[in-house]
Amino acid sequence: MIVVVEGGQISAVDFAVTDGPPEAALIDLGELTLLPGLVDAHTHLCWDPDGDPEDLADDPHEALVERARQHATAALHSGVTTIRDLGDRDFATLSLREDYRQGTQLGPELVVSGPPLTRTGGHCWYLGGAADSTDDLVDAVEQRAARGVDWIKVMATGGFVTEGSDPLQPQYDHDQLTAVVEAAHRMGLPVTAHAHAAAGIAAAVAAGVDGIEHCTFITEDGVSASPDIVERIVAQGVWCGITTGQMDSETPADIIAVMQGVWRVTRQLIDSGARVAWSSDAGISPRKAHNVLPADLAYLSRHGFTVTELLIGATSAAAASCGLGHRKGRITPGFDADLLAVGAGVNHDLTRLCDVKALWRNGTQVPVETTC
Ligand SMILES: [Zn+2]
Repeated sequence: MIVVVEGGQISAVDFAVTDGPPEAALIDLGELTLLPGLVDAHTHLCWDPDGDPEDLADDPHEALVERARQHATAALHSGVTTIRDLGDRDFATLSLREDYRQGTQLGPELVVSGPPLTRTGGHCWYLGGAADSTDDLVDAVEQRAARGVDWIKVMATGGFVTEGSDPLQPQYDHDQLTAVVEAAHRMGLPVTAHAHAAAGIAAAVAAGVDGIEHCTFITEDGVSASPDIVERIVAQGVWCGITTGQMDSETPADIIAVMQGVWRVTRQLIDSGARVAWSSDAGISPRKAHNVLPADLAYLSRHGFTVTELLIGATSAAAASCGLGHRKGRITPGFDADLLAVGAGVNHDLTRLCDVKALWRNGTQVPVETTC
């Protein structure tokens, strides 16, 4: 099989020939497996995994941009060629996106939301996206559109990583979420909602969001998704952005119970025909370094998910969930030449995903070292 790359794009995929076009340089990958570059559909490039998130509130703009640049490079070297950043501070990822788009620097393709909409003092308040009333929310959407973001991210419920925030509690009511979705869609922007509590997921879906982040379906009595809401998610084609993660002997028992519940509900979503993509939420904790996605996927392949489900969920499905399904996540003519060569046999052993042998971004080879 030959993949022909021209001008940063895949121009042909040929299963029948033994030689490429005569003028082309031929790179023989031998026994390696060639994949589309991975897509991480939910990260926080500004966020230091080992730091205190509240410190973000005091970081100067240049420091945020520089940290995001380093983290984007780490992700790229792990094989992630496309990133959707769903929560920066001070719109720091926008200039980085332009640097990479214009090719002044080599980095992953970025799509970005800027600071997520949240309550004053609410989940991720330190990212600076406070909006409380319906008018504030609509203003915030308009401000983001004017700045040129690709997505609107709204914190529909509380979250785990903010002191004093409760993932079981909604942050906005149905009318407010609807106002966010209507304002964003009017400006041509899709909306994805951070939502843990089952009630918050239902409210976001009823408001017409395009995606749900985490989608954990936690309730007072454990993790549970009612067939009604799953049916509605499927019918509306809402993307479920499932957060990857690993457990070990140091993981607290209550967290293990939640994670096992989440994997069970994820299985229910997949089996019901929901659109599921995997993403790392990189940056939010010491276990979430910006190059963690391949290792997380390998872990999940030993905990109830097939290699195919995981690879699709981190390539073509993840690209589609970010609005990039027309040019990312597949090795097919017309798509961007974001290509990843890993150790042979990845379809039997997903840990080979961590054995990055070669990498191309828009047809340009990226120097890599194995990272996980
Ligand atoms: Zn997040």
